[in-house]
Amino acid sequence: MSIPYHHQHIQTLEDVESGSSVFLRLDLNVPLKDGEITDDTRIRAALPTIKVLMEKECKITIASHLGRPKGRVSQEFSLLPVAQRLAELLDKEIVFPDDCIGSGVQKHLTDQQSGQIILLENLRFHADEEENNKEFAQRLKTSHQVYVTDAFGTLHREHASTSALPKLFKKKYAGLLVEKELKALSKLVKRSEHPYSVVLGGAKISDKLKVVETLLKKADRIFLGGAMVFTFLKARGHRVGRSLVEDDMISRAKKIMQEASDRGVSLFFPKDFYLGTSIKEPGQPQYCDSVSIPDDLMALDVGPKTISHFEQYLQGSKTLFWNGPMGLFERPPFNQGTNEVAAIIAKSSGYRVVGGGDSVAAINQSGLADHVDHISTGGGASLEYLEKGGLPGLRILAG
Ligand code: ADP
Ligand code: MG
Repeated sequence: MSIPYHHQHIQTLEDVESGSSVFLRLDLNVPLKDGEITDDTRIRAALPTIKVLMEKECKITIASHLGRPKGRVSQEFSLLPVAQRLAELLDKEIVFPDDCIGSGVQKHLTDQQSGQIILLENLRFHADEEENNKEFAQRLKTSHQVYVTDAFGTLHREHASTSALPKLFKKKYAGLLVEKELKALSKLVKRSEHPYSVVLGGAKISDKLKVVETLLKKADRIFLGGAMVFTFLKARGHRVGRSLVEDDMISRAKKIMQEASDRGVSLFFPKDFYLGTSIKEPGQPQYCDSVSIPDDLMALDVGPKTISHFEQYLQGSKTLFWNGPMGLFERPPFNQGTNEVAAIIAKSSGYRVVGGGDSVAAINQSGLADHVDHISTGGGASLEYLEKGGLPGLRILAG
């Protein structure tokens, strides 16, 4: 089996030959607090691919990054807790050398039996990883015959383990998670059913404008909320008070609104808000029944009129993509607008995808994650895929 990718094909796990010695790049970058894993979703998400390779009696070497140790060895960012959790979940011994390259690793590789798993220490203990260093990639490769990646969230990055390394292999494959992400996200890019609605929120408009520009070419309706909407509202001449605005993006926001109107894409803006005094200390929410925010306050969530307006026009969508919370969802009760949008999406009937770190956290918090068709773990990678229809790491797999 293979996944079509532009005019090429990406091979999948089924094609990995039994007994191969596999370098498996995973995203095991789990959140840690005081050395304890606070959410092991990413480890669990990697299990199906590991199990397939175990069934094929492969020799498996797993590599991942964790946090930002900035090219230095630091116990705080050791993958040891991940090795322990993986061993528990697979009920299997995991060999855990204290580095990702070098003679220690080589010795374990020489002794490795079929089905045995080695988890390498954090790739980012070496600055060479983020610098995409070729010699480092060569040292990671050593005697491995096959490269498999299931680290979807890293495929937009050109690091040694995601770029220079796979280029050294003839045999390279996508894991099950990557396959699932591509199936889901490609439905948002190609042959999507209409009406196609997009709900966009979140903070950094500069990160998201490119996605808005791309989605303008595909979607019929775009609903805007979160902090990024205030750059648009200011561009439209509204008073935004102390709400977050990126002034240098105002002209681009104007262009987007013009293009939406030229293309017949409807943009939906909030009609009411809950306000607070600051992000750090928002205080009690104050209701604002219009798009005119007092100078000393900032809008931190959308209000009920906005929600019912959005609901009315979101209903009947055949394709629906949501990225970015509607408000300061980390600080209840400013999570209300976000939770209500999650509920609307959960009960609507089209093909629904949620992507982006904070949006995924928000839908998990609302307990509605099982009600949507796909939750993209990718964050930056999923947005870049939507924007460009491809990712550097995928091109390498296909090539
Ligand atoms: P995602 O990770 O889903 O792509 P972003 O990282 O772009 O989303 O944005 C999420 C952040 O935006 C959250 O921390 C949230 O609190 C913040 N945010 C959303 N709306 C507002 C607002 N009105 N004012 C301040 N921050 C906001
Ligand atoms: Mg985020």
